[in-house]
Amino acid sequence: MSRFKLRRDRLRRSFKKSGINGFLVTNFTNVSYLTGFSGDDSFLLFLPDREVLLSDPRYTTQLQEECPGLEIEIRAPGTAMFHSIRKTLGKSRQTSIGFESGGMTVQMHQRLCSEIADVDWVSCSGLIETLRMVKDREEVRAIRKAVDLAQRAFAVTRCSLRGDQKERAVAHGLENQIRLFGGRGCSFPPIVACGPRAALPHATPSEASIESHGLLLIDWGADEPGGYKSDLTRVLLTGKISPKLERIYRLVLKAQQRAIDSIRPGVQCSAVDRIARKVIDSGGFGKYFGHGLGHGLGLDIHEGPRLAGGCDLPLKAGMVVTVEPGIYLPGLGGVRIEDDILVTRDGHEVLSDVPKDWDDSHVTLG
Ligand code: ZN
Ligand code: ZN
Repeated sequence: MSRFKLRRDRLRRSFKKSGINGFLVTNFTNVSYLTGFSGDDSFLLFLPDREVLLSDPRYTTQLQEECPGLEIEIRAPGTAMFHSIRKTLGKSRQTSIGFESGGMTVQMHQRLCSEIADVDWVSCSGLIETLRMVKDREEVRAIRKAVDLAQRAFAVTRCSLRGDQKERAVAHGLENQIRLFGGRGCSFPPIVACGPRAALPHATPSEASIESHGLLLIDWGADEPGGYKSDLTRVLLTGKISPKLERIYRLVLKAQQRAIDSIRPGVQCSAVDRIARKVIDSGGFGKYFGHGLGHGLGLDIHEGPRLAGGCDLPLKAGMVVTVEPGIYLPGLGGVRIEDDILVTRDGHEVLSDVPKDWDDSHVTLG
């Protein structure tokens, strides 16, 4: 049985509890997760006795290649998706069909309810996202690939840094390298921020030259050919930096290490966040760590679970999360260090291994 069919069967097992006997999947990433289809504009409809992928003629050949054995309904050009849904439902209309409330516009919901009124449409949220939190072997392999692509690209970029390079050029260089190594590109627009700009957790690369600022924060990741992502952050020390910044560098690293050490099945996500926060608080920088500790990653760069206060979900083997504490001092600079961690049956495995010790982070600009 294909791993996609296994995922669909697992999803089906959650239907009863949600009071549904069918499900309309409209989030394209979720459709890919459940079918292996890499295109978009397609829905997946679960009925009590079958599953049908609803698509359009652009994808006929691709669907046959990517989703062998899956029933496919290709709508005629010019007809709406609702037509396909209605046609596929046929006479089996007396059903309760769940829909993804987090991935549908109000307009679409209204049309669904008015045009297919004899179905009981039931709002559901997080059914597939819950499954996606725990990765299977293929997914872990893909994430390892995404980490490897990101690391190779970073190694090349790091050793070719020049002082007169602009932040934006460094970001483009990373993207190029990921593609040259066989990736689809970056998993998100990289953050490349030097000096005081590193104090902006989501800085967009600018025309600032990277020289003479002492510190360069790079947050980047790769999108591997199957769509799985990686997400890493390093701070490179490109010159002399103040004792205060050195102190926060060492503190962030310590917080990250403590948090990573605590990762194992059964530990609550919020507890991991708390461990890092405690280290940063004890150094007196608690109010400068203004975001959650980390997030799950997979087909999306941000997915469940969140490693943050209020997230009481226990970690499970197979989850992949980032651990990325940061301290941001306005006007001075910032440090964030981020790695990707796999929760294993008896603990964890750090998937990324870009050097991050203080002594290993110095680079001489060409
Ligand atoms: Zn990141
Ligand atoms: Zn991240």
